[in-house]
Order: sequence, then C-alpha cells, then structure tokens
Amino acid sequence: MRRFCAAVLCLFVVLVFGSAVTRAAVIGSDWQYLTSESQGKWRYFDIHSFRSPALGNAHEIWLEVPLSPLNPQENTLLFATSGQAVEVFVEGSKIYEDGDFAPRFLGHGNKWHLVELPPLTHDTMLLFHFYADYPHQLGVFNNFILDTNEAQARRIFATDFAYVVTLPVAVLLGMITLMYILHRSAWRRMNCKLLVFMLMMTVWTVSLSNVKQLLWDVPVVWRFLENFLCYLLPVAANAIVVEILEEDLRPAVRWSVWIYALLAAVVLTAELLGYDGLVLGKQLFYGTLLVLQSIVFRSMWESVRRGNEYAKYALFPMVVLATLGLVDGFLLYKRFWHWHIYLLPMGIYACVAFVVCMIREQILHEQELEAHAEDLMGEIAAAMKRAEMDELTGCRNRGAFEDFIRQQIERRKDFSLIMLDIDYFKDINDTYGHEAGDQVLRQFSELVRQTLGEDQEFFRWGGEEFVIYCPAFSIVNAGDLAEKIRLLVAGYKFLPQHQVTVSAGVAQWHHESDSQVGIFRRMDDALYNAKCNGRNQISLE
Ligand code: GH3
Ligand code: MG
Ligand code: MG
Repeated sequence: MRRFCAAVLCLFVVLVFGSAVTRAAVIGSDWQYLTSESQGKWRYFDIHSFRSPALGNAHEIWLEVPLSPLNPQENTLLFATSGQAVEVFVEGSKIYEDGDFAPRFLGHGNKWHLVELPPLTHDTMLLFHFYADYPHQLGVFNNFILDTNEAQARRIFATDFAYVVTLPVAVLLGMITLMYILHRSAWRRMNCKLLVFMLMMTVWTVSLSNVKQLLWDVPVVWRFLENFLCYLLPVAANAIVVEILEEDLRPAVRWSVWIYALLAAVVLTAELLGYDGLVLGKQLFYGTLLVLQSIVFRSMWESVRRGNEYAKYALFPMVVLATLGLVDGFLLYKRFWHWHIYLLPMGIYACVAFVVCMIREQILHEQELEAHAEDLMGEIAAAMKRAEMDELTGCRNRGAFEDFIRQQIERRKDFSLIMLDIDYFKDINDTYGHEAGDQVLRQFSELVRQTLGEDQEFFRWGGEEFVIYCPAFSIVNAGDLAEKIRLLVAGYKFLPQHQVTVSAGVAQWHHESDSQVGIFRRMDDALYNAKCNGRNQISLE
C-alpha cells in the first residue's frame, strides 16, 4: 500500500512537470488595451499576470502588441480564451474571427485558437478584439505564443498529456465496474454509484482536454460539462462513501451529499438565469469542499478504526481526490500557468486500489456463499438419504423401494423380486420381549445383506417383511438365492433357545404384460403359499 502511494505521488510529480515543460514565452511585452471605460486612452496590459485587469463593466476589449517581421516558419499564433469571442487584425485587415459579438446562452466556452499570420516586411501592430459574455471574463487568456505550425500542434497535445494518461484508467475502471454490476451477486447499489463516478470522471477529463475541440467543436457544451461536473463529482464520490460506512456513521456523509447537490442546483439556476453561476460559485465550492471533506474524513477514519476494509481502501482515494481538488481550486484562482492543468483527474490512480479491493471483497463473499451452498447441498443429500433409510435395520424403506421399482420398470429392466417374511415373529416378541425382537431384525438384515451381491438391493417392506431386488435374475436364479437365504437363516443362532426361520415368495417381471401391482400380488401370493405349506420354505410365482 505504501509503495502504491509512493508510485502515485511520483506519477503526479512527473505529470505536473511534464505539463509545465510546455510553457513558452508570450509574444511581446508592450501590450496595451482599450475598453469602452478607458476614455479612449490606451493603457498598459500586464499579459504575464494571466489575470484580467480591473476592466469595470466592459464587455469588449481591444488589445495591441508590436510585432517585428517574422521568421516565415514561426508564423502560427496560439492562444486560448475563456468565454470570449475574438477577432484578430494585422495592418487593418481581419485575419481571424471566432464566435459572435453578442450575448449567448451558457456563454462562449473555453477555446484555443491557431492563427496563421501573413508575412511581414516591417514592424507592425497585432490587434485583437474580444467580446466577453461576462465582464469578469474579459481579458482572461492563456498563452499568445508564436511558433511553427507543428510545434503548436505538439504544444496542444502535450498539454493534454496528464489527461491522456488518466482517461484510459477511468474508462477501464468504469468498464470493470460495469462488468461486475451484471454479476448476479454484485453489490449493485455500490457498483452503480461507482460506475456513475467513473463516467463523470471520464466525461469531465475529456471536457478539460484540448483534444475535445477536435472531436466536437462545441465549446459551450464542453464549458458546461467542465464546470458543472466539478460540482457533481463530490456528490457521486460521497454517495459511494455512504454505501460503505456503518449505519451510525452515514448521516454526516449523507448531509454532505445533499449540501453539494444543493450547491450544484443553486449554481445551475444562477447559470441558467445568466449570472455565470458555474464560474462564480467556484470559490464557495472550494470552501465547502474543504469543510465537508474534513467531516467525511472523520467518519471514514472512525470506520477504518472499526476495521471496515472498504473504508480503509476508500480513505486513500478520498484524501487524494479532495486534496487535488483543493489544489486545483487554489491554482485556478492564482493562475500560475499559461494553461491551467487540472490535477484532479490524476486522482483516478488512487481509485484503482479501491476498485480492486471492492471486487476482491465481493469475490471472497461470493466464495463464502458458494461454500455455504455446497454445505447445504450436502446436508440436503444426507437428509434425503435419512428419509429413505430404515433406522433399525439400515435397509432402505418401503417408500424408497416403490420409487426404485418404478424407475426400473420405466427403464425396461429385467428383474425378479423376493419377499422374505420371518416366521412366527410375533411369538419372538411375545416370548423374549420387543427388544429381543429388534435385535433379531437387525441380525437378520445383516445376515441377508452379507449374502447379497453388489447389484442386488435390499429393502425393509415393513415389520418383519423384507424385499430383495435381483436385477437380470430369472425366477429360477432368484429362487436359488431365496433358498440360500432360507438355509442360512435356519442355521443361524439368533436366540439361544429359539430357531428363527423365514419364508419367501418369488416373482419375476414380465415386461409389457406385467404391472407393478401385478408383480407385487404374485410375490405376495407365493409368500402366502409358502406360509400355508408350513413355513420355512420358498415358493415361486
Ligand atoms: P407369520 O409367520 O404368519 O408371518 O406370523 P408373524 O407373527 O410373523 O406375523 P404377524 O404379522 O402376526 O406379526 C408380525 C409382528 O411383527 C407383529 C409386530 O408386533 C411385529 N413387529 C413389527 N415391526 C416390528 C419391529 O420393528 N420390532 C419388533 N420387535 N417387532 C415388530
Ligand atoms: Mg408378516
Ligand atoms: Mg412373519
């Protein structure tokens, strides 16, 4: 875990410095501006401050900077604007324009511009004319670099480096989560929230990039997504935290979700009413972020102390995301760089451990369930076996016998049945007691069982009556077996002063011409004959 954190930190440093490398000199230093409020006088404009000077309530600004003859290769000008329409003039002729010089619903959005300058023979003035949707956005620019066309394209892509390395991770984590949602035992609510968060991170990261302008050149939509998703990200992130915390720790986090959601609704309303709410609400948002995430951290920390694995793995990304969000807010406000790079998307790397842990915990849970299900199946099988078993003799009971015979008949098997009935068993009970009778039944069934082959089945029909199933036996073979058993029983010493004997009736299955009731009746009749003929004998159907 510690090594993972270190790796993530190193990555941040590389990415931040990597993007800083794209810094380049801004053309000229003698920038002057003119607005409707500067009484017709050109004033000094500090282009290096990257911050709009106090321009009052003006919506339009003219900017000029002296330009010497250019190296013919380095004639591509790159600059970016926030919420402004633009025109560029050289020697009185317009060479570039973008956007309408009129108010627009949801503003003009953030854009970068590539302007190819014409060849110059002498020193001249480069003149810019900007129109801003809101006065506070007037004069907010990035860069103003002259370079070759290829170098500018590289610059545009290089600034996206941080997003390029984070975007696939967000997409991948989203896809893994989606795959897991479809799983039958998934923690669905939690996975859905995680998926929403990953989706937001993905769309938001795209909206921050420069490439989006090449994908879909609708700056208004991108600006809206960039700013609005910012407010929604903590809603989604804290909604995940709500899921993983213990019930008593949830209310504080739930409240934070509602407060963020409320803030998002307020700024959205302000934006729709034309007050640039999404941008102006940012200061309030970052202040709220600091306070609420501290509260969320306290709840999570308590949960970690109680041994909650999910909270343990969610704490790191939560701290990283909140910190990066706050740093972003600070940097955005201070505008240290020509081109603002958001650090928050890199926080996605901190989420990897959480997603992996979440899926691991769910797989473990699933394995536990499977093991439990296996135990249950075992118990059910044992219970079913017990239900078919006669406890006294260990033979299968009459219910099992009837099911078994039905199956054999359905499978069109050849077989014969032997019914054994101990002679004068009632006398044994009466003379030696019920206990002794039981003992005789046990010994009798054990003796018969030892006589039988592997494929013959032995059932207790009820009382002192038993049935033997003899597969593929003719009536003669079955008669031989019955006789063998009779002799064995007659010779066995069950009781010291009492000879126990058995009578048997044998019947064979006759297929199509036969029925279950029929074979039972013939077997019973045969047994009856054996009894009538003096017992201790067998009789065939
Ligand atoms: P027969 O030669 O005609 O078969 O006479 P029998 O006495 O063996 O037949 P009868 O059907 O009159 O009696 C069977 C007796 O078996 C009655 C019953 O008390 C006894 N019996 C049935 N089940 C058990 C048992 O589980 N344990 C004991 N000890 N006796 C049982
Ligand atoms: Mg009987
Ligand atoms: Mg009997």
